Amino acid sequence: MGIDEKQRSVLKMLPGVDHVLELAGKDDYFTNIPKSVLVLSIRLVVEALRISILEGNEEITATSLSDYLIIEKVKQSVKSAMTPNLKRTINGTGVVVHTNLGRSLLASSAVEHLCEVSTRYSNLEFDLGTGKRGLRYSCVEDILCELSGAEAAMVVNNNAGAVLLCLETLAKGKEAIVSRGELVEIGGSFRIPDVMARSGAILKEVGTTNRTHLRDYENAISNDTGLLLKVHTSNYSIVGFTASVSVNDMVALALKHDIPFMEDLGSGTLIDFSKYGLSKEPTVQESVTSGADVVTFSGDKLLGGPQAGIIVGKKDILDKIKKNPITRALRIDKLTLAALESTLRLYRDEEKAIQAIPTLRMLTFPFVYIEEKAKQLAKMLEDLNDPRLCIRLLNLSSRAGGGALPIMDLPSKGIGCSVKGISTNAIERSMRENMPPVIGRIEEDLFIMDLRTIQEDELEIIKNAFDKMLKKAR
Ligand SMILES: *Cc1c(COP(=O)(O)O)cnc(C)c1O
Repeated sequence: MGIDEKQRSVLKMLPGVDHVLELAGKDDYFTNIPKSVLVLSIRLVVEALRISILEGNEEITATSLSDYLIIEKVKQSVKSAMTPNLKRTINGTGVVVHTNLGRSLLASSAVEHLCEVSTRYSNLEFDLGTGKRGLRYSCVEDILCELSGAEAAMVVNNNAGAVLLCLETLAKGKEAIVSRGELVEIGGSFRIPDVMARSGAILKEVGTTNRTHLRDYENAISNDTGLLLKVHTSNYSIVGFTASVSVNDMVALALKHDIPFMEDLGSGTLIDFSKYGLSKEPTVQESVTSGADVVTFSGDKLLGGPQAGIIVGKKDILDKIKKNPITRALRIDKLTLAALESTLRLYRDEEKAIQAIPTLRMLTFPFVYIEEKAKQLAKMLEDLNDPRLCIRLLNLSSRAGGGALPIMDLPSKGIGCSVKGISTNAIERSMRENMPPVIGRIEEDLFIMDLRTIQEDELEIIKNAFDKMLKKAR
């Protein structure tokens, strides 16, 4: 690619790294910036400009290469280098347990406990009663048994790990019988058949996609059977002409043949959501009461705690699972344990749990509360007084997310925005690039934010993000 005279003259104007470094030395903005970061940022800026000139970008001229403008670019680059990659975002999607946006938010007591345990030594694996080595899981075993009614409990890194560990312990080299309708893919590449293959258990599918009967399980049982497994279908629902077998019937069948019965509840909840006007989700207590030998569920879905895989069930089965050497590879971290223990303790008083645990609070918000917030945000945006901006209040349906209550629409309220002269895609991008990013969605050419998952103190941030976008596009 040849370059013309004009490009050559602009290239000549491009300052060297040393020159920009010298300029930066005179600017207070860079006082506390590590030199390595500054030098790297300058290199990136100068290199990007060089490429741009070579590509024939006409906008780069002698004026745009002024010291002032280059230093501004370096400031932006340094700012982004000095900001953590993992950062808070504002969830305007209305999906409460949004896996891509970090699933559950922790209750404040869980955060306090986590901070204390992480900045001090703890009795993580030390028995304060005997002064001897203790077990990592013991701090949550009692409370898990108390809340679920199970004989024993343990926790690992996440529910995928819990399922893998249980299958490996109970059904390695043997057949695990599962209904065809429950061979679910959760997303993030968790598929029941694949996890089963990795655990060494042999998948034996029974029934059909829409209907599985008790006799299907019974006919499949042989000397090679190691486990009867029920999996919560999580992110989908089979409706119409369907049949599945109740936990009670599966437990009875398992008992008759002396085979363990395991239920992967997926999300898992300790409270009955139907009491709060939501659809019924099977609770952990119901599984335990029905006599399931082992039940697994996530810590950060409907439970509203940190990422964890919780295993509750019969003592003899849990003893086997705890002895499996794989537990070491799946072991839960102390920060998670602290947050999990505090979250679980909140469940001793259900009313308090619903107020204190953000996931539960957002799922049970009264509609009028969300509507009020939506009106407030609409008013704040209208007060920006920009004739290009058009705001509409919308009736929306939020989702629980996290593979829970998959077909349940939670009536919600949100706002839809359009701006004359700015495309909806550009609005979406501008909100996403805000600090902190505001994540919404586009529907019918409107940028939409659902107020269920937006906190009150975030309204101001959203207003400022709009203000900035509008001013920039003037
Ligand atoms: C979500 C889910 C899992 C995986 O749980 P993680 O905590 O995300 O590892 C496993 N099984 C079912 C049925 C699920 O819904």
